[in-house]
Amino acid sequence: MRIDLHTHSSASDGTDTPGDLVREAAAAGLDVVALTDHDAMSGWAEAQQAGDEVGITVVPGLEISTRYGHRGVHLLGYLPDPTHPALVLELDRILEGRTARTPAIVAALRAHGIDISEDDVRRESGGSVAAGRPHVADALARLGVVRDRTEAFATLLSPGQPGYVNRYASALEEMIPLLVDAGGVAVLAHPWGRGSRSVLSAEALAELKDLGLAGIEVDHQDHSAADRAELRAIAADLDLVVTGSSDHHGLGKVDHDLGVNTTAPEHYERLLSLAGPSLGG
Ligand SMILES: [Zn+2]
Ligand SMILES: [Zn+2]
Repeated sequence: MRIDLHTHSSASDGTDTPGDLVREAAAAGLDVVALTDHDAMSGWAEAQQAGDEVGITVVPGLEISTRYGHRGVHLLGYLPDPTHPALVLELDRILEGRTARTPAIVAALRAHGIDISEDDVRRESGGSVAAGRPHVADALARLGVVRDRTEAFATLLSPGQPGYVNRYASALEEMIPLLVDAGGVAVLAHPWGRGSRSVLSAEALAELKDLGLAGIEVDHQDHSAADRAELRAIAADLDLVVTGSSDHHGLGKVDHDLGVNTTAPEHYERLLSLAGPSLGG
């Protein structure tokens, strides 16, 4: 059984529609695929329908933008009740922050002498409710300012760079219990990717587990072989679920092909068993 628990569609910053993504996952030989768009659950229905058509299990999920200390940390949530009032409210706040952020980034880049407009960004984001930095990066690439998304993030859009603008994110310590309250399963996405290793130590992970964290994404392209071995040992020590996934973004990210990392069936089963009825907020 091949299981990929982290993918993005055009409901956030992936390039495939939710339906196309699921069909591609089936074609890639996956048996289970989770749709985990950034702060958005709007792709679930279309993905589920495509899954029923092609005979692949679709796990509804999302990747929530949180902060922990002064760092941005991504939290995967699986199978939460999409109508849970407090969760819906918090996701709205995050999306609002993201929407307001894009014009601020464009203004900052313009102040830095780069000729980019909000229309350039809108052209890249299409109908996404989660227009954000990846779409600004795509616009910069199309305008020839950078070669690709990677260069845009490496030179312009990350903290400390000319096009970086802070935005609202939930506190991780509040989002984990909220997800659990909504009947969801909380798994930290790529905990040691993008410089987060310094804040997400074994001690921090133990504390987060006490708040309801169920697992960590160990097998991710942002983690070296050494990182993975160390994280796997921590997970075993703390009795956390271990997941692996592609973090596929369609054409939006190279080296993240569907199924490039997978989750072991026994860990997937355990994850499913932890999803519970929503407590209703
Ligand atoms: Zn992420
Ligand atoms: Zn992701």
